[in-house]
Amino acid sequence: MSHSDDQIRARLLARKAELAASILQSKDARSTVELDQTRNGRLTRMDAMQQQAMEEATARRRIGEQRAIDAALIRLDDGDYGYCSLCGDDIAPARLDHDPAVATCLNCAAGKG
Ligand SMILES: [Zn+2]
Repeated sequence: MSHSDDQIRARLLARKAELAASILQSKDARSTVELDQTRNGRLTRMDAMQQQAMEEATARRRIGEQRAIDAALIRLDDGDYGYCSLCGDDIAPARLDHDPAVATCLNCAAGKG
């Protein structure tokens, strides 16, 4: 593996903090939208619903990523980090570099494994 565990841990924790900040920010943004809507009637109901659905999808994605990061931190502690959680093969370093929380090799992620 090209990175030390400490480097990976630092990256994971930084990403987790980033996500937590984004989640807080989007909560603020949501209440701002609601205020605008009731004050100015700027958004139509459809716009507001569409926007809300998008925000919820983003929030779910962020929470999912937080869970993936937590799981990766546990794998790091257990010495399982860098191995596919489905087939046990090495995960390609470039893949881990792109997303350090990734839990599966490319084959398994593509459903080929
Ligand atoms: Zn695999």
